[in-house]
Amino acid sequence: MAHYSNSLYERLEEETGVKTGFVRTGSLCLAQNQDRLLSLKRLASRLKILGVSCSLLKPREVLNLHPMVNVHDLVGALFLPGDAVVSPPDLTLALATAATAHGVQILEHTSVTQVLVEKGHVTAVETDRGTVECDYFVNCAGQWAYELGQSSEVKVSVPLHGCEHFYLLTKPLSEPLPPETPVVMDLDGRIYARAWNGGILSGGFEKNPKPIFTEGRNQLQIHTLQEDWDHCEPMLSALLRRMPSLEEAELQQLVNCPESFSPDGRCLLGESPVAGGYYTLAGMNSSGLSLAGGASRFLAEWISFGYPSANVWPLDIKRFGSLQSSRTFLRHRVMEILPLLYELKVPRWDFQTGRQLRTSPLYDRLDAQGARWMEKHGFERAKYFVPLGKDLLALDQSKTFYKPDWFDIVGAEVKCCKEAVCVIDMSSFTKFEISSSGDQALRFLQRLCANDLDVPVGHIVHTGMLNERGGYENDCSVVRLSKNSFFIISPTDQQVHCWSWMKKHMPKDPQIHLEDVSWKYTALNLIGPRAMDVLAELSYVSMTPDHFPSLFCKEMSVGYANGIRVMSMTHTGEPGFMLYIPIEYALHVYNEVMSVGQKYGIRNAGYYALRSLRIEKFLAFWGQDLDPYTTPLECGRETRVKFDKEGGFLGREALLRQRERGVSRRLVMMVLEEHDPDHDPWPWWGEPILRGGDLVGATTSSAFCFSLQRHLCLGFVTGGLLAGSPTPVTPDFLSRGDFQLEVSGQLFPAKARLYPFTSLPVQQRPRQAPLEITGLHGK
Ligand SMILES: Cc1cc2nc3c(=O)[nH]c(=O)nc-3n(C[C@H](O)[C@H](O)[C@H](O)COP(=O)(O)OP(=O)(O)OC[C@H]3O[C@@H](n4cnc5c(N)ncnc54)[C@H](O)[C@@H]3O)c2cc1C
Repeated sequence: MAHYSNSLYERLEEETGVKTGFVRTGSLCLAQNQDRLLSLKRLASRLKILGVSCSLLKPREVLNLHPMVNVHDLVGALFLPGDAVVSPPDLTLALATAATAHGVQILEHTSVTQVLVEKGHVTAVETDRGTVECDYFVNCAGQWAYELGQSSEVKVSVPLHGCEHFYLLTKPLSEPLPPETPVVMDLDGRIYARAWNGGILSGGFEKNPKPIFTEGRNQLQIHTLQEDWDHCEPMLSALLRRMPSLEEAELQQLVNCPESFSPDGRCLLGESPVAGGYYTLAGMNSSGLSLAGGASRFLAEWISFGYPSANVWPLDIKRFGSLQSSRTFLRHRVMEILPLLYELKVPRWDFQTGRQLRTSPLYDRLDAQGARWMEKHGFERAKYFVPLGKDLLALDQSKTFYKPDWFDIVGAEVKCCKEAVCVIDMSSFTKFEISSSGDQALRFLQRLCANDLDVPVGHIVHTGMLNERGGYENDCSVVRLSKNSFFIISPTDQQVHCWSWMKKHMPKDPQIHLEDVSWKYTALNLIGPRAMDVLAELSYVSMTPDHFPSLFCKEMSVGYANGIRVMSMTHTGEPGFMLYIPIEYALHVYNEVMSVGQKYGIRNAGYYALRSLRIEKFLAFWGQDLDPYTTPLECGRETRVKFDKEGGFLGREALLRQRERGVSRRLVMMVLEEHDPDHDPWPWWGEPILRGGDLVGATTSSAFCFSLQRHLCLGFVTGGLLAGSPTPVTPDFLSRGDFQLEVSGQLFPAKARLYPFTSLPVQQRPRQAPLEITGLHGK
């Protein structure tokens, strides 16, 4: 988005005749330590994929670009020559001038009081100067967007919170810097600085920010926010350390100006799930200027064509729901988000605030057994379980781009999944039930899903819900509970998006009933060859594949509890069962499973083990590997697409066209070679994939495969162009390719695969710690 904004702003002055203050200065991100440098190398890789030019510099090279920077404590820097600065008010005027020239009418000094919605769609906005009828409304009210969303009868959640932001201005320096001097970002010092009117403008993102306006908007207060020199002292010291010659400079002003931040530091874009035609573009997280051009383009495309031209799921407002909109949650989270802008982000970091919002009934039980937690869509999920006697503090503080401290722990959980049986609490999954009096639910799902759902009762179907372009809006498992009722299991963070997608396409038939039952069921995943023994003992029913075939669901009793939905699938490719348990039975069933499972070597496991297992089996997950711009044909899922089913399905025509053209982009598994997991940086996601030295794609997820004792990554590669047309990615293209993966700036050879391993070697023991599967903390 910033890239597009940059090119838009560059030509705006010529187009409008209004000055924008655009100067191509470039920018310098400084690194004071090796970890920061590594993160800049990762950023350089990402920029390479996006086609943004940048280069890594040695400290002394920084001096050639910026004479005032003290480089003595630096280990390197990243230079982005294309970056630019603008004058915000001038740019705003230029944008308004350009919009007006294209027919836009701007009403100044006009307040929107509420947005009117009828039959689920926007019809008008009420303002203090009258009502304006409209089909579309965009809430881009900055830090007032939350309040504006709440002010209508149909309440729209726009989760953001205001925070004070400080910057200082100096008077002109005795030797002013040329205006094209690069902007400096000293991330470890938490400050930025740029040349401004002959002096310096410098601000920062402090560790202890000051949230404001939790109680609601206050237009007047904004102009009376106080300077706070004590609060800014650490940033001022950091600035003087970075630019010691500023000791001589005279300060002109310390400005305190509020900004708004979303719960994950990314903006809030797109159509509201509760009101059609109600769009949002807010929560700009201190990057409103750099992102405005690109974000607005996506928004305009979305409104005009029904979808933006690229995958914007990470920005989609539907990644949040009302559950992230409590004022307390937002106030606490903003105190974490603002510092995070310049924080060193290592793989698998987790938010510390807003935690324990949604938990499984087993939370305390698992916590007492050593669970270390991560959060998804407000739900606590166990990452792994720390065995008794391990140094908990060290593990909690483990922040690294290299081999993490939990390596052996997760290795032991994986081993137990393969050789015995593990339990993973997967209650965070989104679950819907849909039913109808006649076959309306079936007909609706048949239209929405690419796979055939007209299967015998009890069967489970893995299917995508595709858009008109054939891309994944949802990747789910659907269970046929009865002739006219279905149970749909979707990824955790699909709760709002999937609900809204289904509602949008659902016929207006009062006989179809859709319910979000996510909170009603605790989901336990029993993974491993002994899972069937545990369940057989608890249910007095044979659980062998002959009696309980794969992808099958039965309501059974487990222990004393009746009505447990037992499903023969594990989301890992390993044998086992998912148990969907009405929440009041959760503790009982868990206790019984752990008790009976002891003699089979049962133990708890977490999501890190699951990740390793699913990537080893080449199982792509929505949100990480799949998105609305990825089709089933691009990830080898043709078998889940029933082109010939009666009535067709949404996305069919696009898939037929793609099949005819050939698939020029494919999900592949990359097997990393000559990579030492003990000493080399680990892949995470977003690593460039090269073929014969040319960039052909990027990874989407990765994990250490304990069976092969090496890293596996999933990612997409493109086949390149032949006479201007994309060429298909064929097995030949992959097998003959000389592939490499760029991990934190280092190149490693890799083998590309289109299919999972048919057999994997028995897991080897790591050199240091022996893997234990017995003597575990069961009941
Ligand atoms: C000190 C400081 C430095 C910054 N530096 C940078 C930087 O270097 N680079 C960068 O990219 N970004 C920077 N930003 C961030 C950037 O300024 C913001 O992200 C951006 O201004 C947000 O734009 P917006 O349009 O979303 O909101 P705003 O600019 O706040 O605009 C919202 C508008 O909506 C109006 N409004 C509110 N409620 C209503 C209503 N009910 N009816 C009608 N109108 C309403 C408001 O009056 C306001 O005009 C900085 C911000 C600050 C404070």
